[in-house]
Amino acid sequence: MAIHVGRWDCRQCGHIGILGPETKCINCGAPRPKGVRFYLPGDAQIVTNEEELKKAKAGADWRCSFCETNNKAYNVACVSCGNLRTASDKKLEAREYKLNEVPTDSNQAKLLMTQDKVDSRYHTNTETKSAFKATNKLLWWSLGFSGFVIFVLIVLLSIKHKITVDVVQMHWEREISTEEYREVTEEDWSVPSGGTEISSHQAIHHYIDVPEGYETKTRTVQVKVGEEQYVCGKMDMGNGYFEDKYCSRPIYDSRTETYQEKKYRKEPVYQTRYKYSIYRWKPGGSIKTSGNDKNAQWGDASGLQNNAYRRENGRKETYLVYVMDEKQKEQKNKVSFGKWGKINIGDKLLAYKDVLGNYRGLVE
Ligand SMILES: [Zn+2]
Ligand SMILES: [Zn+2]
Repeated sequence: MAIHVGRWDCRQCGHIGILGPETKCINCGAPRPKGVRFYLPGDAQIVTNEEELKKAKAGADWRCSFCETNNKAYNVACVSCGNLRTASDKKLEAREYKLNEVPTDSNQAKLLMTQDKVDSRYHTNTETKSAFKATNKLLWWSLGFSGFVIFVLIVLLSIKHKITVDVVQMHWEREISTEEYREVTEEDWSVPSGGTEISSHQAIHHYIDVPEGYETKTRTVQVKVGEEQYVCGKMDMGNGYFEDKYCSRPIYDSRTETYQEKKYRKEPVYQTRYKYSIYRWKPGGSIKTSGNDKNAQWGDASGLQNNAYRRENGRKETYLVYVMDEKQKEQKNKVSFGKWGKINIGDKLLAYKDVLGNYRGLVE
């Protein structure tokens, strides 16, 4: 537990590097500044003298509330004004530093003193806030720019102009899909109701893991073999001295160990699988009708009425209008039955073209 001698700077005359234990400036005699932060230079002296070690361990110095003078822990009265030490005379703060946070020169100590004065919470808050704002700004700029590009593209593609086209052909298609109730062959682990068994055989249903002894394997493991002490920080003792702070950490050693691993073998489990015939509704044919006239009709579905083996399974209908655009190119348009009914060959209709000259459909 080595103890080192710290340093402090006089704020009155600017003298730097005054030995920590000194309570007054060796140059101008001013007391240590209020809220002094001691620092520990890299080449700080280690205290070995028995007498000085005793002084160092005596505890933090105290500040006289009348004259501001720093006094040693063993002083029962202020060395400057003679007032007896009372409860209102505050001890200098003892501080614990992590190894990389110990102030090592007067600048770092000064910085810490300034930070002590500023409300630390307010300080960090504003810093993070401004950093956050800067990142946000960049993000909003890039978002805004890509948004603008997409917007321009959408606007360009949505600019359409109207052209007049001639209706050259009409077409309609209708379709009634059907289902058939027919006998099919299926296979399963049981015969469902309505099925007639054709044959059966043994088949693999699933696998189980069967233990099959052990296998010897090796692995590397970390074993804790002890603990070590190391200097992990420094304690500002509040009297100009710094004491090493020790932490302990475990020491590990890697060792190879053998272990037994259970081995398994996959074994199939057989069950009876049945082949059977059964009646099922399956897709049948469809009844299609089509034409280029205006006489759209459904096909003859009368055969499906009162039929136990065939039934309807949905209807589809398509109505097309073919037009010739201004470039004499034929364009196909899918329209509703209602619209289709009102259009005839030879009619002139309005249609859209986009900026690239692509045909974009009839005007509704
Ligand atoms: Zn001074
Ligand atoms: Zn005093």
